[in-house]
Amino acid sequence: MSYTIAIIGRPNVGKSTLFNRLVGQKLALVDDTPGVTRDRREGEGKLGDLEFTLVDTAGLDEGPKGSLTARMQEQTETAIALADALFFVIDARMGLTPNDRAFADFARRANKPVLLLANKSEGKHGEVGAMESYALGLGDPIQVSAEHGEGLGELYDALRVLM
Ligand code: GDP
Ligand code: MG
Repeated sequence: MSYTIAIIGRPNVGKSTLFNRLVGQKLALVDDTPGVTRDRREGEGKLGDLEFTLVDTAGLDEGPKGSLTARMQEQTETAIALADALFFVIDARMGLTPNDRAFADFARRANKPVLLLANKSEGKHGEVGAMESYALGLGDPIQVSAEHGEGLGELYDALRVLM
């Protein structure tokens, strides 16, 4: 079994962008499985010489007033259960939201290695959000830009230690 990493976080932080960057062309779609989780995508990810199975928790809408819907919780929990490690993604430009904290509770309770990724950190834009994210209790943030491919060397270094 390949080392499996689930990408977790609230909507719009850049999870799918990160998934696509690490999976590249070799994207595989997972069929909907009734009764289990819908919208979960899996692919074979690659970062330098590291190869792993990557699980994206897909675009779910936030509930009323940005609350965490039951379906989002279920999907996240299923992905966490399948994973050997988690990428917990925040939008470092936006700073922390209540939903970030709610998802972080899941990630902490999983008792699995978590890499905290402060995404959208191209340029200097993510500094404040990255600092704020220490409060999640998920360790030191790694500043990345999924869209621009920045910070992947730091991500590699952190991931290599886990795998
Ligand atoms: P998801 O809902 O967490 O899967 O987020 P998406 O991957 O769909 O991205 C949400 C939005 O954030 C899109 O408009 C992306 O283009 C944008 N985005 C993703 N990564 C970055 C990044 O590194 N920098 C910036 N500035 N925008 C990003
Ligand atoms: Mg997505």
